[in-house]
Amino acid sequence: MAVYAVTGSASGMGAAVVERLTTAGHRVVTVDIAEADVVVDLSTSQGRRDATEKVLAACGGRLDGAVLAAGLGPAPGRHRPSLITQVNYFGVVELLEGWREALAATGEAKVVVFSSNSTTTMPMIPSRAVAALLEGDAERALKAYRIFGKGAPAMAYGASKVAVTRWVRRRAVEPDWVQAGIRLNAIAPGAVLTPLLEKQLATPGEAKAIRSFPVPAGGYGDPGLLADWVIHMLGPAADFMVGSVVVVDGGTDAWFRADDW
Ligand code: NAD
Repeated sequence: MAVYAVTGSASGMGAAVVERLTTAGHRVVTVDIAEADVVVDLSTSQGRRDATEKVLAACGGRLDGAVLAAGLGPAPGRHRPSLITQVNYFGVVELLEGWREALAATGEAKVVVFSSNSTTTMPMIPSRAVAALLEGDAERALKAYRIFGKGAPAMAYGASKVAVTRWVRRRAVEPDWVQAGIRLNAIAPGAVLTPLLEKQLATPGEAKAIRSFPVPAGGYGDPGLLADWVIHMLGPAADFMVGSVVVVDGGTDAWFRADDW
């Protein structure tokens, strides 16, 4: 039996990962804003500190792996860019920094962070915001979204996912992580039918944009299929997988960027 921490465990893809891990006999310390072992608000510094410490206490300082699935979507008007930034970027990197020693303690830990195919398919993501986030400067990132007006939440979403993906790839090859046996990788889903996507589809402007996006395989992804990929990335198949980004999006990324490789 292995011990995993999963954020965003109460819904969508995080919940599907938890279901698979517990069915396989593993222990999961769940983290979410409600209905979890560790109930915290990851949009606040205090919530992130609590999540870090309570998970460490629950797992006895040893983690076989972690899945960072908590996230807010880009639906306009619903979540301010600052909230998206705090949960999607700082709600991943601060927790992982706090859990590094516990992950190193098992010598072969696997971590999967939820990125998004918006990192490669969304135009105009401000590089200044991405750079600011990687320097830990949320305020500077927020300034870069202002000129986008109603599009600011979408830009905050895209930038948060680009930044978190770059953070994963940078840390993945650093000795503190890779030589400690920690395998840091990311999964980049396309449109997957979870409550997050349902909220966007319930917003007319957003629904139009989502439906006009090319998905060569057709339809939306199933959260369980994405969870199956995450489970694979938590197993020994990932021993030689370091800083990879696995795109599972029905072909959208390939449609836009077949030759961009
Ligand atoms: P979801 O809304 O079903 O689940 C997200 C979970 O995050 C929820 O349980 C929610 O309570 C939790 N969460 C949100 N804010 C929180 C906070 N402040 N503190 C603690 N927990 C919080 O969404 P999902 O579609 O399963 O998304 C999982 C991940 O996949 C997210 O990071 C999302 O950005 C990413 N993603 C989703 C899609 C998609 O189409 N569904 C596409 C690409 C990437």
